[in-house]
Amino acid sequence: MGRQGQGLHSRSTGVLEKVLGLLGELRATSAGRVIYSHIEQMLDEMANEHRKTEEAYASFIGMLLEACLAQIPAEDPLHTHLRLVQMRLTPPLSVSELGALNRFVESIADEMLNTLPLQHHDLAPALGPVLATFGAPATPVAGETPPAVVETPAAVQAEQRVNAAYRAHLDEKREAMQRLQSDFVAQMGEAEAEHRDFGELLENALQVLRAAGGGAELASHRLEIIQALEEICERHRALAGRFGRVQEYLSLIEDDNQQLSEELDRVRLLSLTDELTGLPNRRAFMRRLEDEVSRVQRHGAPLSLVILDLDHFKQINDLRGHAAGDAVLRHYAGSVLSIFRHHDLVARYGGEEFAVLLPNTHLAGVVRALEKVRRRLDEVAAQLPAGEELPTFSAGVAEYRAGETANSLIERADTALYEAKRSGRDRVEVHTGEQVVPATPDAGSV
Ligand code: GH3
Ligand code: MG
Ligand code: MG
Repeated sequence: MGRQGQGLHSRSTGVLEKVLGLLGELRATSAGRVIYSHIEQMLDEMANEHRKTEEAYASFIGMLLEACLAQIPAEDPLHTHLRLVQMRLTPPLSVSELGALNRFVESIADEMLNTLPLQHHDLAPALGPVLATFGAPATPVAGETPPAVVETPAAVQAEQRVNAAYRAHLDEKREAMQRLQSDFVAQMGEAEAEHRDFGELLENALQVLRAAGGGAELASHRLEIIQALEEICERHRALAGRFGRVQEYLSLIEDDNQQLSEELDRVRLLSLTDELTGLPNRRAFMRRLEDEVSRVQRHGAPLSLVILDLDHFKQINDLRGHAAGDAVLRHYAGSVLSIFRHHDLVARYGGEEFAVLLPNTHLAGVVRALEKVRRRLDEVAAQLPAGEELPTFSAGVAEYRAGETANSLIERADTALYEAKRSGRDRVEVHTGEQVVPATPDAGSV
């Protein structure tokens, strides 16, 4: 059936061959053959899919490692460390090897971040093709000042995409295994029921024959028939025993599944993308905020922060259901907040809260941007089908003040947001450093 010569994943092949070996007897009947070839085909597809993805990841990581190696002197222990990782990076990889590799790469990444003056352009040759494929940069709006720092968002975006792709891969793998498992269980259940019925039938026939008396012809064949039926019964019992052993293999697959789920949870935890809206999540936002604050501390360019919260959002969930609430969040993320410039970072900060970080922007610029957001909200809301509506928003704004920490900037924007809610919602308040005031077109001068 084409299993040979396809270079299947050797670890899976071992288990899969054993499973198929155990099921070999299914092929004795035509219904069994159908089930057998169905299972075999599923196992083939799963193994092939797995192998292709693994090779792609390995070559991607290999490429990145090569670029790093080019920057590190051969006598540096880190060089040897990286070469070791490269050597281990040969598919097929088991789940535990993947885990070990992951920890290896993470520790090296930490080491590099802490010790090397590695510049983004050192990695550009390796990252170029990846960014070209997965991270088409947004086109700047004509007439706007080019961003001071575009590398950080691009790197964050690339990381988000790699994470999302890895997550999707793990999800797919887990789903395939679950499908396989439930198909398996269903088919075995059917086969078992069939055999049980057949077994009962045979037992009955045996009893009848054993009880039958008289008739010379019957007497001569009786022993023969009883032997044949006993043989069939024996085969039936052996088959039932094998089914029991297949259950053990299923539980092995279940363990593998469990490991996959744990890996998936870990990747989710490390993820930088919000799954509902596709926006960077709070973790990505905090990273970028730290970066921007340290950049501003060095170069003194302006930096502003908006925290924006939807008004009475809970009512939407309560009145129109959670799915309608989710759709509102996606509308906000995809249509309303998309007016920000591509070097501004729009993130999902919490449930129905968004944060926007605007490098090179003073308060007055932020207030103008938020007026545009409000106009866009009206336009988007006007195009919604009757019965659907988008809630208004309240926002708090703060501009970075020399010497303050990232947390202090967040706290000031939060205080302004609180004031916007307290004073009636559907408005923008600005934290000037000393006080909170309603946003006005000349907010920059307050
Ligand atoms: P306020 O104007 O004071 O902000 O009122 P609110 O109702 O918007 O705020 P509140 O904090 O009372 O409720 C926020 C709600 O958002 C509660 C929570 O169930 C809901 N929420 C959080 N995350 C999600 C999500 O991902 N999807 C949906 N549908 N609802 C969410
Ligand atoms: Mg709210
Ligand atoms: Mg809220």
